[in-house]
Amino acid sequence: MYHVPHLSTGDLLRDHVNHGTELGLKAKPIMDRGELVPDDIVLGIVEERIGRPDCAKGFLLDGFPRTMPQAQRLDEILRKRHFRKPVAVNFRVDHDVLVRRVAGRRVCSVGGEIYNVHDLPNGQDGRCLVDGGTLVQRSDDRAEVVLDRLAAFERQTRPLIEYYRSTGDLEEVDGSASVEEVGKKLLEILAEHSVDGHRA
Ligand code: AMP
Repeated sequence: MYHVPHLSTGDLLRDHVNHGTELGLKAKPIMDRGELVPDDIVLGIVEERIGRPDCAKGFLLDGFPRTMPQAQRLDEILRKRHFRKPVAVNFRVDHDVLVRRVAGRRVCSVGGEIYNVHDLPNGQDGRCLVDGGTLVQRSDDRAEVVLDRLAAFERQTRPLIEYYRSTGDLEEVDGSASVEEVGKKLLEILAEHSVDGHRA
């Protein structure tokens, strides 16, 4: 197993929104519309987080980078901090499957565990199995916002696939497979690229 922090820019931004910080107040309406938060805000959060001691041996970035300027700045940050080149993993999922998964996602209001209404364990009554919290839908997981998020992906994030292919750092995973299969594939990729934990 890899004992490296999981840095989800979406989670970090939602923390700011939930705590009502200035940054969170700025980001919330943008996130609710399914658009991307400006690069300077996201890069500020990521750079600060990567600089903490728990990231010294590597880290897993989730939902970042999402634009070319973010990818280029990430390269600079990694170079400056003497990390090796990153491995970018593109999870390919059919449009219909993706919309169904995202619109069906529910999150525990207490601990943040993630479920899906299409895949709840037998007899589960809509509460979290870990702590009994109520399951809620993220405001940007509503079907109408999901389509805008996908449009933002096409416009701003898809070019990164070519970018990481051209630098030789791209790995592709069939994201339509089961959670177990996708997880196994991801671990194989990490094992292949990991050298004493110093690959981001
Ligand atoms: P996620 O939890 O990754 O689905 O992100 C939720 C929302 O947070 C996105 O729709 C964006 O509004 C914002 N967000 C997360 N990561 C980024 C990023 N790298 N760049 C810009 N906006 C982001």
